[in-house]
Amino acid sequence: HARRIEGVDKNICFIQEAFCKAVNGGVHMHQYTRAFGHPALVKILAKFYSGIVGQEIDPMEDVLVTVGAYQALYCTFQALIDEGDEVIIVEPFFDCYQPMVKMAGGTAVYVPLKPREGSGPAKSSAEWVLSPEELKSKFTPRTKAIVINTPNNPLGKVYLREELQMIADLCIKHDVVCISDEVYEWLTYDGTKHVKIGKMIRWLYACQQIVWLNVTQRFLAASLPGMWERTVTIGSAGKTFSATGWKVGWAIGSHLILKHLKTVHQNSVYHCATAAQVEHKICVMGVKHMSFHFLTGVTLSPVVLKEAVAVGFQREYDVFGTEESYFQQLPALLHEKRLRLADCLRSIGLNPIIPQGGYFMIADISNLSKFQKSGSTKYSKRK
Ligand code: PMP
Repeated sequence: HARRIEGVDKNICFIQEAFCKAVNGGVHMHQYTRAFGHPALVKILAKFYSGIVGQEIDPMEDVLVTVGAYQALYCTFQALIDEGDEVIIVEPFFDCYQPMVKMAGGTAVYVPLKPREGSGPAKSSAEWVLSPEELKSKFTPRTKAIVINTPNNPLGKVYLREELQMIADLCIKHDVVCISDEVYEWLTYDGTKHVKIGKMIRWLYACQQIVWLNVTQRFLAASLPGMWERTVTIGSAGKTFSATGWKVGWAIGSHLILKHLKTVHQNSVYHCATAAQVEHKICVMGVKHMSFHFLTGVTLSPVVLKEAVAVGFQREYDVFGTEESYFQQLPALLHEKRLRLADCLRSIGLNPIIPQGGYFMIADISNLSKFQKSGSTKYSKRK
């Protein structure tokens, strides 16, 4: 176990090394880059995710690099939601969705994940499910979008293919956009697999390639709408490479949708903000030749961060699916920490819900109110 952790720590260095190289990478590394994404980064994101989604992603059209996933979400809501639109949000949810919908003039409509009935107290996030009937009832002619977050913050639920298919069918039926927040996509545990909703229904296309269909069938299959055309998939370099302070994120989707996000991006931040505070981090990383200083007002260009993320993704592209892959090593490391945290929570009388993915763990705290009511010595003494 110790060796594994050591190994992971060693491997995390690849992203720090990429960062240091980028810092020293010449004058152009400290200037503006392409507003919609540093070319090296959009190219590797497109190459990496084309293979995963099974869809040719155009780096210049279908990818937008943003100030963290947060700004990708902001651009998406501002671009796609109009006054009076409804946006379905699955509870529990990452807290910015609701205010962002409101700021865009929309109305949030909630639908809860609930523990499956009759199976006793839930122990795993897998036991929390959507009621298909309840979800269906939330779609109205005013529904513009639904937000799906898998793996979910804070519950840790990782949606099953069947659950995503059910959501996808409703999106297609009601002509609704899916905003898929997948920032924790590489953090899944116990063999749970992350599935991309943007990929759903692509199998029809795949079938077309292998099965001989007559002309009419081919036409029908090709004209059936898939999820790629209506999904904005949001990712974060901060979560992907455990460097949350970098604030590099992205939105990937059809250029027909992305062009509207780009308009918001261009006319709000235009380009990722400079990252002066990173200097402190560089010191921690031990870079010897610092040529700029926080106090002088010379700031570190975000191009450096984007270049470093591009190098990180290129490395992952090269080792994907092997033990060398950080995307395999990181969940192995967090798996142990997750179990340790669950043990701690149990030891003080709480019931943790073991997350299938993500960074967070929720716990049933009803025992605490029992302690408080009875003035329990156990709780008050420890306090
Ligand atoms: N989505 C979810 C579900 C998150 O938990 C977070 C960060 N906590 C974000 C988006 C924002 O990510 P970033 O730091 O890349 O802006």
